[in-house]
Amino acid sequence: MKNEQINSIAIVGGGSSGWMTALYLNKLYNHSDKIIEITLIESPNIPTIGVGEATVHSVRNYFAAMGLDEKELLRETNATLKTGIMFRNWMKPNLDGSTHEYFHSFEQQNISRVLDISSAWVVDKRFEKERYDEAISISSHLIKDGLSPKNANSRPYEGVVPYGYHLDAIKMANFMAKKGVAAGIKHIKAMVSDIDVDGNNITAVHTDKGSFSADLFIDCTGFKGFLINKIKDRSENWQSFEDALPCNKAVAIQIEYPQGQHPKPYTEATALSNGWMWQIDLVNRCGTGYVYDGNRLTQDEAEQELLAHHGIDKNNAKGKIIRSVHLDMHIGCLKEFWVGNCVALGLSGGFIEPLESTGLHLINASARLLGTHLTGKNTAQSVRDSYNKIMNGTYEDLKQFIVLHYCLTDRDDTEFWQDVAKTAQYCNGLEAKIDTWKHKICEYMDLAGGYITMFSDENYRAILYGMNHYPNLNIPANRVENEKIYQEFDNRVKQVTGLVMSHQNYLTNLHK
Ligand SMILES: Cc1cc2nc3c(=O)[nH]c(=O)nc-3n(C[C@H](O)[C@H](O)[C@H](O)COP(=O)(O)OP(=O)(O)OC[C@H]3O[C@@H](n4cnc5c(N)ncnc54)[C@H](O)[C@@H]3O)c2cc1C
Repeated sequence: MKNEQINSIAIVGGGSSGWMTALYLNKLYNHSDKIIEITLIESPNIPTIGVGEATVHSVRNYFAAMGLDEKELLRETNATLKTGIMFRNWMKPNLDGSTHEYFHSFEQQNISRVLDISSAWVVDKRFEKERYDEAISISSHLIKDGLSPKNANSRPYEGVVPYGYHLDAIKMANFMAKKGVAAGIKHIKAMVSDIDVDGNNITAVHTDKGSFSADLFIDCTGFKGFLINKIKDRSENWQSFEDALPCNKAVAIQIEYPQGQHPKPYTEATALSNGWMWQIDLVNRCGTGYVYDGNRLTQDEAEQELLAHHGIDKNNAKGKIIRSVHLDMHIGCLKEFWVGNCVALGLSGGFIEPLESTGLHLINASARLLGTHLTGKNTAQSVRDSYNKIMNGTYEDLKQFIVLHYCLTDRDDTEFWQDVAKTAQYCNGLEAKIDTWKHKICEYMDLAGGYITMFSDENYRAILYGMNHYPNLNIPANRVENEKIYQEFDNRVKQVTGLVMSHQNYLTNLHK
């Protein structure tokens, strides 16, 4: 039997997930003729979450594929460029008393002779004298000198190293809405109050501006999962990851820059007493937040610890704080993201703490996966199963990578850090993998699975070696051979640092 083309999609929710999905599906289906009527319904009374301001580098490919002008995007969202994340304080201080830190960049340097640069570095035990990221990542050198990954003449979406963005989340949703409406997406500002259901299928959503039907409904209503939870009981459909990732609350604060401080081209993730804080620098302000274990810390304590870290006294913060918000986070994901004719995407489908800035990337990946699974009006259950299986694997995979950041710690100064050091047990197979990586190099084959792998062996090694977890190898060092690899890397660093301008000059140029 011929499966008829879907004619209409209704997306409920106008945050990043709603608009990114709307734009993607519109581009995929309606590039020449209007095949699918796409309507986005958004409550004017429920604000978007307003956080989610750092991206991974692949999100750049999404914006490019949507045909958006990069400079316009950056200008309209007060954006800065980001080449990675600086992790601080995730281990005990170094022997000389300085704070432990390591940088996780987006790059992968393919310099290879008998060994690749990363393997040569461990075989030669270079960890005894230098940081891993400084030995294998050009970005690590760029940030030391405050350099940008691109200069004024760089082509759109291209840089000397891969880069992502820091952007204002609210402005980004507004920018996407403007582009979406211009591209023909119908935008209805109305509150969905109820739905009609036939079996597992939604037949209509009811709003204060009338009722809307569609062949497919996409739930982008944020943590409340307004549609999906109505057709599949959440107590059955939700899987919590809080045993592995206990940080379930966040306080997000926007602060003024101290006089003379310039935005940094990297995100900072600094471990605190019961979680960690982010710092994301935009052109006009800094976004900071504390992701913490709400069973161990009150909102007030979290806010005070965060502000103290920025040298701000809570009782004397006037003029320094622009906006402050406390958030409950649901850590985990649905078992079935796609039920009947409803797909939950974005926060309504799941969330893992934003330690590696993966929220927008997951939206992009989910929208693309949905695009390849939209087979027609009568979706076969096997197609839904395939989508759900891949999404589950993707979240499990991400959970494992985030847990790695915690379970390698040697910190034991609070009960939180003592407990999170044991969380590998809650990720299927992670303890065995970590044990294996004491004896051999972590490789791609150790990680491959049937889902969207966001982080490769190179990323795993950045965390393992950044947190002093090296394999004990019996491969004899070939220093003469390996020296050629390090020489090649040094040459690349010199060449690239000579090509780019300072991050501050790039921004001044862009935003003038
Ligand atoms: C503390 C924190 C930090 C984060 N940091 C990052 C980061 O650095 N990088 C990153 O990539 N991601 C990050 N994320 C994730 C990111 O914020 C989200 O993935 C992203 O904003 C998508 O949100 P959303 O669109 O799913 O939901 P929301 O932004 O919550 O949008 C929900 C939408 O649904 C609408 N809505 C709700 N109910 C109804 C209804 N009944 N009728 C009509 N409309 C309705 C609302 O009006 C709103 O438009 C972070 C998340 C948190 C919690």
